[in-house]
Order: sequence, then structure tokens, then C-alpha cells
Amino acid sequence: MSGILAHLKPENVFGYFEEITKIPHGSGDTKRLSDYCANVIRNAGLSCQQDEMGNLIAVKEAAKGYENVPTVMLQGHLDMVNEKTTESNHDFSLDSLELKTEGDWIFAKDTTLGGDDGIAVAYMLAILSDPDLKHPRLECVFTVDEEVGLLGANGLDVSSCRARYLINLDNEEEGIFISSCAGGVRVDQILPIQRMETEGKQYEIQMDHLKGGHSGSEIHKGHANANILMGRLLYELGLKEDEGFGLISCDGGQKDNAISRSCTAKVVTETDYETFSKNVLEVFEGIRKEYRHTEPDMEVKVVPVGEGNVWSMTPSSQMKVIFLLRMNPNGVQAMSHTMKGLVETSLNLGIMKTTEEEFTVCFSVRSSVESAKLDLVNRLTLLIEFLGGEAYLHGDYPGWEYQPQSRLREKMVQTWKDLFHEEAKVEAIHAGLECGLLLGKMPWLDAVSIGPNMEGVHTPKERLSISSTRKCYEFLIRLLEEIRE
Ligand SMILES: [Zn+2]
Repeated sequence: MSGILAHLKPENVFGYFEEITKIPHGSGDTKRLSDYCANVIRNAGLSCQQDEMGNLIAVKEAAKGYENVPTVMLQGHLDMVNEKTTESNHDFSLDSLELKTEGDWIFAKDTTLGGDDGIAVAYMLAILSDPDLKHPRLECVFTVDEEVGLLGANGLDVSSCRARYLINLDNEEEGIFISSCAGGVRVDQILPIQRMETEGKQYEIQMDHLKGGHSGSEIHKGHANANILMGRLLYELGLKEDEGFGLISCDGGQKDNAISRSCTAKVVTETDYETFSKNVLEVFEGIRKEYRHTEPDMEVKVVPVGEGNVWSMTPSSQMKVIFLLRMNPNGVQAMSHTMKGLVETSLNLGIMKTTEEEFTVCFSVRSSVESAKLDLVNRLTLLIEFLGGEAYLHGDYPGWEYQPQSRLREKMVQTWKDLFHEEAKVEAIHAGLECGLLLGKMPWLDAVSIGPNMEGVHTPKERLSISSTRKCYEFLIRLLEEIRE
């Protein structure tokens, strides 16, 4: 294979990874990648089941001498989060990602890279197509639509699977063996809105260049959420005596599980551009100062977009929209008392969008404690119902509880130490992994999640470490070789 990663070793891993980045594979759009993988696997002479959703289960029989070792399941997801910079005109349904390397890092120009979880796909394809490896019987599971509520793992039929061990390849830090994860659910609050005809000048208030990040693994970093800040800005703007405005729309964020980096509110007012713009920037200045350390690049601008008659929200609807944005809980809600530094319960207002008749906000709610998750869902439901709207739940998935005894984890810790002369760490994460769902279907599984170093996952700044990708592959190959019971 030739390409920008062609010089990197292991060649098969980076070769497959580059091929994967050429095939569009955002959540809900994984058919092409699923077919590509099925082809690679069948061309290697292996059996591969593809279900209607596009999930794949490939089997590679045990190498000589490993016939009596329990089956190992390797697992990762096919879909990636499609995020791009505001300036980018990348078409995620058609275009290949534009790969770049810099020092030890691989990234894609202006878009997410899909190292999450393309690297798992590349690892599995490399292992499946390499006839020289020594390992027990392998079941490689490629799931679709993990990023939009673990839909593939949820729908997966595991009746043909015999694995006793599960190595999930969806972690983002080398030498960290994840042994527990949070459960989650998406909550959509839908508020009906009324409109009235209003005359005036129309402006867009645009907020942009926040850091964003993964709503699970980065929720504790103190990054601001653009949607929440816009609610605050609109509220404080309304408090200014001379500032009356009608809200036309409020839209921001693209994914419930990404911290919103930008948003836009459209308003109508009698105030002239200069005064209105000055008022907005005055209110914003207070917010900007508060966040100057965590969000130094955050920016707000006011853009005139028209004049004349327009259907803006009635004062009552507008108040409800702003009330909802101000009063909803957001961010970290509780930290774990047993695992230091672990977020136990959180939520993220990832998307807000406005249509003619409705204002919708979408949350990603997470907790490793099922009752705490339910309590947050109840609060979101109570608030929206109080305002005359409704809450809808999607993609509820269970957490993965820590197991004090794990033969697989012990073997992994030992192998890591033997190979690299350093201690691996056993941790829990505040993000969803498919392990919870797979364990629900195969309760006897002994599971651990690993992966190479990645940064900025779910943002256009996502990047994957080359040396770490190599190191984790070396570890995986050695581990499979050394699992003998
Ligand atoms: Zn992932």
C-alpha cells in the first residue's frame, strides 16, 4: 500500500488505517467500511458474518498449539464522530480524510481523524490477515454506530460467539487497562414554541472557537459549553434596560456526546447595529473573563442578516427557551468516592436546535451508578414537562461494573511489565464502552479495554500517536501469544 503513512511500521496496521480514512464512515454511514472490512477478511480466507446493521463477526481459528486455549474476542467500532472546523467545507458523505503527520502524531486536516475507533479496525484487520501470528481462536467483532448510543453492540447477535475473554480496543491511553465504564442515555427535551410577526433588524449572535471535547472523558476539564453560554448571554442581554429583542432561533452543537464548540442565536430588534453589538459584547466580556484560562480563543460576534418582518418567538416562548437553557443541569454532577479522580455522574447539553414550532435540546447523560443516571433523567424530564414540553429517551445502555478478579487483566498487567518494564494502570472511565452491552449478552466474559494514545477525540484536533500505536500493537500480539489458559 502506498500513502502518507506508508513509511510507518507496523506497515499492515498503518496501511489499513490509511485505507479506512479514505472511506467515509460517520455514524449511520458505515455500510461502505463494513463491506470493505468483510472483503479484506474474506480475501484472507476467513469466515465473516455481516448482519443487517453492518456489524461484522470474523473468526480466525487457533494457531497450532493453541487449540485448547479459550477463545479471545477482539472488538472495536466501525463508526467515527464527524466533526469539522467551522471554516472547513469537507463533505463527510463523500470525501476522504486529508491525513497529515507531524512528529509522532497523525491527524486529519480540519476534521476528526477517526482514530476512535479506526485504529481498532486497523488492528483487527492486521491480525486477521497475518497468517504468521500465534494466538488462540479469535472472534473479531466490528460494531456500527457506537457513537450514537452503542446501537450496533446493542443489536449484535452473539449466539455464534464462544469467547471467554474480551479485549475491547476503544480506549485512548496506552498502558491503561480499563476495567469499568459508565452507563448512559440520550435525553431530548422538546419544547413547543409559538411565534408572532415582528418587525425590525435581524442579527446573528455567533459564538465560536471553544475547545469542545468528549462529553465523557473530558467533561471534568472545565471546558465551556457554547450552548449553555449562549443561554446565559441571551438572559443577561435581556436584563439590560434598553435591550428588547425577539428570539428567532438558537442552534448549536452537532453531537449530544461532544461538548458544544459553537452556536448561533438569531434575533430581531429595533436597536441599531452599533448599539446592539456593543451591548452583546459588554455582556460577553464578563463571561470571557471568567473563562480566559480555559477558553482563551472563545469569540462572539454580531452579524446583521436582514431587516423587515419576521416570525420571532412570543415573549412567553422566548422566556421558556432561555429558562430551559439556564436551569438545566450541565457538566459534572458527582465524583466517585472509591476511585480518585473518576467522574461518577455527568451530563452534556450537546445539541440545541430550533424549527418553526419546536425548540429541542439533546443531552448525553452518564453515570456508573444506575440510580444516579435515572435521577438526572427524571430532573430533565420534570423541567421540560413543567414548561409544557416532553422528554424522549434514546439508546439507554448499561455500565460495566468493576470485577475484582480478572485472569485476563492479570495476564495483561504481567505482559505489559515483561515487555516494557513499566507498570500498567487499572482504571475506570466516565464514558460508555460497548463492554457493558457485550457483558449483558455474555455474562461470563472477562473483559479489559485498551488502546493507543489519542488526543482531542471527537474534535477536529483529534490526533493519534504513531509510537503508541506501534507499542500497543506489539503488546496485543505478545498478549495473544502468551494467553495459554
Ligand atoms: Zn470510540
